[in-house]
Amino acid sequence: MQTKADILRGVFGYGTFRPGQEAIIDATLAGRDALAVMPTGGGKSLCYQIPALMTQGATFVVSPLVSLMKDQVGALRQNGVAAAFLNSALTPGQYRRALDNAAAGMYRVIYIAPERLSSPDFRAFTAEHPPARIAVDEAHCVSQWGRDFRPSYLDIRPFVEDLPFRPTVAAFTATATARVRADIVNLLGLRDPVQAVGTFDRPNLFFEVIRGKGGHARDRLLLAILNEQRGRSGIIYCATRKTVDAVCATLRGRGFNAGRYHAGMSDDERRQSQDAFAVDDTPILVATNAFGMGIDKSNVSFIIHYNMPGDLESYYQEAGRAGRDGSDALCLLLFAPADIMVRKSLIERGDDARDPDALYRAKQRLEAMISYATGGGCLRARLLRYFGETPPVRCDACGSCKGPRDPAAITAAAEAEAEPTARARLPKPRLATSAALDGDLFERLKELRLSLAKEQGIPAYMVFSNATLEDMCRKRPQTLTAMLGVTGVGEHKVRTYGARFLEALLGQ
Ligand code: ADP
Ligand code: MG
Repeated sequence: MQTKADILRGVFGYGTFRPGQEAIIDATLAGRDALAVMPTGGGKSLCYQIPALMTQGATFVVSPLVSLMKDQVGALRQNGVAAAFLNSALTPGQYRRALDNAAAGMYRVIYIAPERLSSPDFRAFTAEHPPARIAVDEAHCVSQWGRDFRPSYLDIRPFVEDLPFRPTVAAFTATATARVRADIVNLLGLRDPVQAVGTFDRPNLFFEVIRGKGGHARDRLLLAILNEQRGRSGIIYCATRKTVDAVCATLRGRGFNAGRYHAGMSDDERRQSQDAFAVDDTPILVATNAFGMGIDKSNVSFIIHYNMPGDLESYYQEAGRAGRDGSDALCLLLFAPADIMVRKSLIERGDDARDPDALYRAKQRLEAMISYATGGGCLRARLLRYFGETPPVRCDACGSCKGPRDPAAITAAAEAEAEPTARARLPKPRLATSAALDGDLFERLKELRLSLAKEQGIPAYMVFSNATLEDMCRKRPQTLTAMLGVTGVGEHKVRTYGARFLEALLGQ
């Protein structure tokens, strides 16, 4: 039988497990329930996908968002895994066919919207064809203490309890607070779950704070930073809808291909923005924190906070959307003193103001955020200490350990390069690994990736992540077997894409 390490290597193309993954996989295989708390990008999906491939029968994955399900199913299929989703994006005919296929045992992994769990036809189906295992993704949606409460998550427990056999249930979240964790265990009815809390450290994220004056200076600084980041995809978070609109207009005026996203836009507009961002039609997205959970775009290379958020939980969750493919990514906070007043007044006008305890806690959270923005010292260490870890005093890999940059110098350097032709010649960003790469080869591989993605109508990162292309440039495999040694290249991808990429690698 294939071991979990065989599957990690053969199907997903990875050489080593991330912290917490093995504990959850082993628990599931041993028939135990499990609760995994890992940061965004920590690798929660593999924790249920690998057991699904080692088990007879299907694994149901409850997932809160259609876009998330599509992305996961697309990625699994790219790796040769039979997977499907059952949600409102399907026509009745497609839904029927998917159920028939599921009944015939065609899928190993089936993503399901929580609303399905209470529908009579789906209940009838599962009574006949019960799942072998259940995974609950974004499990904090079951808790009213979280920001993303979804009442239909409360249907999971009765659904599980009505099944003819009780499958193992594994729950996954990036929300670390004790209260939410307890809710997940109780409201999902987990039985003596094995709990694994992964490290919140994300070594590929470069944290930086630039303290400036605010106002117009902040725009100039942003434009300068975006020049450094040219050719990469990223999100710019702003505190208000008005700021989103203004920043987006400024960027477009300067020739940047930017989209926007906030709760003041219609559902259609928001969906269009999100899709255009997902496929890199508009590689830059300017957004409020309404753009959030379920964003599974793995090649987001920078997260810039144009304004300071209200707490470090929000900051880390938003910043954590960068670098999910393992490539180096920048998490930059642009801080100006005015941000403090804005945040204080938001707290005083918000829901927390009605309850003295909640108000006090909100102010404490803001203080921690302010000391991150203004306090100096290793930024990574500050974040990890806040999340209950005991990191080394210095990481030597953040903006603070490396020595803070002077905003005036950054803008001056960029504005000296303001000609469009000069811009095209700007060096790659100063982040570590890409500097060592053969830029021409990398560009050729990216073009090949794009044309393969277009042939199939899927986003480019689903073919190969940037981390995979970077590793390919470094290792330059000369055979299909050697290609398997590249991170993120499993057997199925070698069969489907290996020859084309070898050609590109050898042709130079
Ligand atoms: P989460 O759901 O925890 O936010 P994902 O499951 O989406 O994170 O994983 C984030 C990225 O990390 C994905 O691109 C995934 O393929 C990759 N990944 C997961 N596990 C590993 C591993 N053991 N080694 C290398 N990459 C991994
Ligand atoms: Mg996930």
